[in-house]
Amino acid sequence: MKKRIAILGSTGSIGTQALEVIDANPDIFGVAVLTARDNADLLIQQAIQFRPKEVVIGNEKLFDKVDAALSSYSIQVYSGDSALVSVVEAEDIDMVLTAMVGYAGLLPTIHAIKAGKDIALANKETLVVAGELITSLAKQHEVNIYPVDSEHSAIFQCLAGEGDNPIEKIILTASGGPFRGKDRAFLADVTKQQALKHPNWSMGAKITIDSATLMNKGLEVIEAKWLFDLRAEQIDVIVHPQSIVHSLVQFEDGSIKAQMGLPDMKLPIQYAMHYPFRLKSSFPRFNFIDYPSLTFEKPDLDTFQNLAIAYQVLEKGGNAACIVNAANEIAVEAFLQDKIGFLGISDVIVESLAKIEYIGNPTYSDYVQTNEATRRFASEMIQVKV
Ligand code: NDP
Ligand code: MG
Repeated sequence: MKKRIAILGSTGSIGTQALEVIDANPDIFGVAVLTARDNADLLIQQAIQFRPKEVVIGNEKLFDKVDAALSSYSIQVYSGDSALVSVVEAEDIDMVLTAMVGYAGLLPTIHAIKAGKDIALANKETLVVAGELITSLAKQHEVNIYPVDSEHSAIFQCLAGEGDNPIEKIILTASGGPFRGKDRAFLADVTKQQALKHPNWSMGAKITIDSATLMNKGLEVIEAKWLFDLRAEQIDVIVHPQSIVHSLVQFEDGSIKAQMGLPDMKLPIQYAMHYPFRLKSSFPRFNFIDYPSLTFEKPDLDTFQNLAIAYQVLEKGGNAACIVNAANEIAVEAFLQDKIGFLGISDVIVESLAKIEYIGNPTYSDYVQTNEATRRFASEMIQVKV
């Protein structure tokens, strides 16, 4: 029996790499559902190649185009936000890979969990916004959440075979991004072209900017808390510019386990999709002789404020991380549209955190309202500045 995967965000960086994994292992995986927002051409091409039962194009204006292109295949086409959410509930889905970007991942993930589908989670924003809700729902519905993010996959791989051995702490590695070692004076004038040039990974625009500001590492600290049930003081971050050691776990006897390899997201994607089994691959192998020095540095929290902010909101709990996530999404978009500078991203987050009402025990509708209020506030703040 093939494992039937629904890929949410199939036209993105993670989505297309997941399809490469499926293409290389056609006896093991099948595609049940593909979804995208705007990239109708690629979605059509993917649907013709992988023959899912259902596809969803988020942008309703593109429905006719996708529907016409797929009319001679037995593929059901839907469009719009509600279809993006409900499509995960179909009976013949075994696993949902959440590879869309941003807050938009939250509701489809909730629906998938409630429908009892295992999750391969790339969309870290879902756990950042509502980690408590998502992990408790997963427990209640006996659903597994397998990490796709490379650092969390590394931790997950280090935990294999450890049974109930407690984690003393984890160490998340960070490449440091394109501006490692730079000061605030330098960062004040950097362009989006510079920020989009990640040294080691090729990824979507939003996560690439998050990597440059170290917000990505901050989001990953929060993601790790929820995935592995840790306290803030059990989560360390270390800068490792070569991105060979993908993260580490320290146990109570002092032993540290690391997971290593050349940077390639297909490995964590296939580990999540086929856990607990490892799939044979032809990915290029790491060779120690090619990397005679793997180096490690302390992250610069004064220059890269967003990582410090993430630790603060982790301690604070409630809807604080939801505020940070929404403010960051708006600020990154504004930076990509040349409306604010690089350092302005942190300013938008800090001011949003100060202004938006804190809620200690948020419900789902509190998260929805917090997200909306923060987006409105952050957008207005940027408008005023422009
Ligand atoms: P991309 O920007 O490359 O792809 C995003 C995908 O989501 C596209 O298919 C896009 O559709 C779709 N999408 C965008 N907005 C919406 C929306 N509002 N509703 C529904 N679908 C939408 O992102 P990445 O693949 O880089 O990242 C995806 C997620 O995985 C992010 O949460 C990221 O943090 C995480 N991640 C990514 C890594 C990577 O290496 N790329 C590594 C670790 C985690 P379309 O293009 O058709 O508009
Ligand atoms: Mg990562």
